[in-house]
Amino acid sequence: MANLGEVIGAASAVVKGMGVTLKEMMSPTVTENYPDEPAKLQERYRGAHELQRDENGMEKCVACFLCAAACPSNCIYIEAAENTDQLRISGGERYAKVYNIDYNRCIFCGYCVEACPTDAITHGHGFEIASYNTSTLIYRKEDMLVKIPEGAKPPVIAEHAEASAH
Ligand code: SF4
Ligand code: SF4
Repeated sequence: MANLGEVIGAASAVVKGMGVTLKEMMSPTVTENYPDEPAKLQERYRGAHELQRDENGMEKCVACFLCAAACPSNCIYIEAAENTDQLRISGGERYAKVYNIDYNRCIFCGYCVEACPTDAITHGHGFEIASYNTSTLIYRKEDMLVKIPEGAKPPVIAEHAEASAH
C-alpha cells in the first residue's frame, strides 16, 4: 500500500504535468506558411554543409581528413593537393582538390563540423535537397564553397587576374 509521501509525490507530478499543458494551451498558435513563406530555422539548425573561406578569400580547408575520419556514415570523400607559390588555394600546406559529401548517406550529425580544426566546414540552413535522382545528392566542393568575401583578393585569383590583363 502506498504511503502518504508517495501519494503526495504522484499528485504533485500530475499537477506539474498539467501546468505545462495549460501553459501551452494559453500560448498563441504558431503557423508556419512554408512553402509560401520561407521556413524559420533556428540559428543552430544543421542543414546542408558550407565550406568556408577566411577573410582573404582563401579556403579554410587544409585537407587534414579529420572530418572524414569523424564521419560515422563514411560519406565525406577528399583528395588533397599541395599549395605551391604559383597556386595557393588555402592558408595551410595543403588544400582539398576534391571534397564531396554524399547526402544519400549523411545523417546531419555534425561530427564533421566538430572535428574540423579550422572551422572550414559548417552547417548552412539549406534543407531543400530531396531528389528522385540519387546521383544529384553527391555535393562537390564547388556546390558547398561560399563566395569570396567582398573586397578580398586571394593570391591565386590575383595572379590569374594579372595574367589575363597582359
Ligand atoms: S553531418 Fe555527420 S554524417 Fe554528415 S558528413 Fe558530417 S559527420 Fe558525416
Ligand atoms: S573540412 Fe576541416 S576537418 Fe575536413 S579536411 Fe578540411 S580542414 Fe580538415
